[in-house]
Amino acid sequence: MNVKDIMAQLAERHPGEPEFHQAVKEVLVSIEDVYNEHPEYEKAAIVERIIEPDRIFTFRVPWVDDNGQTHVNIGYRVQFNGAIGPYKGGIRFHPSVNLSTLKFLGFEQTFKNALTTLPMGGGKGGSDFSPRGRSDQEIMRFCQAFVTELWRDLGPDTDVPAGDIGVGAREVGYMYGMYKKLAREHTGAFTGKGRSFGGSRLRPEATGFGALYFVENMCATHNIELKGKTVAVSGFGNVAWGAVTKATELGAKVVAISGPDGYIYDEDGVNTPEKIEYMTVLRNSGNDVVAPYAEKFPNAKFFAGKKPWECKVDIALPCAIQNELNLEDAKQLKENGVTLVAEVSNMGCTAEAVDFFLENKMLFAPGKAVNAGGVACSGLEMTQNAMHLSWTNEEVDKWLHQIMNDIHTQCIDHGKDGDYNNYVKGANIAGFMKVAEAMMAQGVV
Ligand code: GLU
Repeated sequence: MNVKDIMAQLAERHPGEPEFHQAVKEVLVSIEDVYNEHPEYEKAAIVERIIEPDRIFTFRVPWVDDNGQTHVNIGYRVQFNGAIGPYKGGIRFHPSVNLSTLKFLGFEQTFKNALTTLPMGGGKGGSDFSPRGRSDQEIMRFCQAFVTELWRDLGPDTDVPAGDIGVGAREVGYMYGMYKKLAREHTGAFTGKGRSFGGSRLRPEATGFGALYFVENMCATHNIELKGKTVAVSGFGNVAWGAVTKATELGAKVVAISGPDGYIYDEDGVNTPEKIEYMTVLRNSGNDVVAPYAEKFPNAKFFAGKKPWECKVDIALPCAIQNELNLEDAKQLKENGVTLVAEVSNMGCTAEAVDFFLENKMLFAPGKAVNAGGVACSGLEMTQNAMHLSWTNEEVDKWLHQIMNDIHTQCIDHGKDGDYNNYVKGANIAGFMKVAEAMMAQGVV
């Protein structure tokens, strides 16, 4: 395999998909050497097959707002790779959603899911629908319209969607309700469901908790004490909330959270139940802003239009959206003496920022390893649904912890580069090898 040739081919076949190209390039660069040790992979065109989704659904989603006005959004489901299990991955509702975004997310999901050690293939879906400012009834109608088109291609052993940006328990509930009505069966065809109808305990917290379990592993491996460290988090959604909760529980002090409007610096720490709960209040307001935090807690300062990466902290956790941390931010973090950067959002750092972290041998781990706790817990929800039972908090947490430890071990095993642990390489090689082996075993399909 020659990365340059493959990338040129990809750009020619699928022009105008920069996020997808970015995600593919990162993986190919990491796996190039290992791949080329396997001539049988080359013969079976594993790379050419793995970068092309199994199939993509694109559809119109018409819906009526509260004033009787009809709107049309585009819906997608990318069933990226089903080599190791049913397609699995979230649904994103955000105005930035397009095919490039969902292909990059589906591609990342394939390797992330492989890392979880659970039998799940990779998929992703969503729409350019913006939930911002929409009423509950509008959200419900949109979710129903979305699933009405997609339901035939979903199922507990076929394709199992979940939440992502703009899709939480409420949206999953509405989508699952319509799915169940049409399919006439009550199965685990969605995860992230409400607890009263098959949802797993800890699923809302799992991405953030899992990320901190991974960070704990990174710290332990590099003789760093997590306790007492200051942390900057971007975002204030479900993932950021879980990360802040667990970081606080582990004795770290989160001093920054952010939204599209700017960031909050809270010197005292976002560390009381009231403050952490306030992140949920902000999220549920549907306005997508963090500024009101500084009115509610006057010791905190709001920095309009700025990113939290300018704060002097020990740990940086991007938890918002792709490419939210760029080269300038990476340089700023280094200058400020940051100890550890863990990407919690999917591809939260630009390619240039990742290269900078690696070139400078900084302690950095990629989203597909760090945030895998979310989908891992979804996998545990599928297991519980299939068994028709539900586990306790302790049981789920034990699994989650174990899985995050395993992912960390895989990253170290495959990412050793002298005395530097290259987590990007480790995660990509470990995830890729598992999928490639499954594809080889199943023949050319
Ligand atoms: N959207 C989440 C992710 O990026 C979770 C997916 C899932 O639970 O299926 O991994």
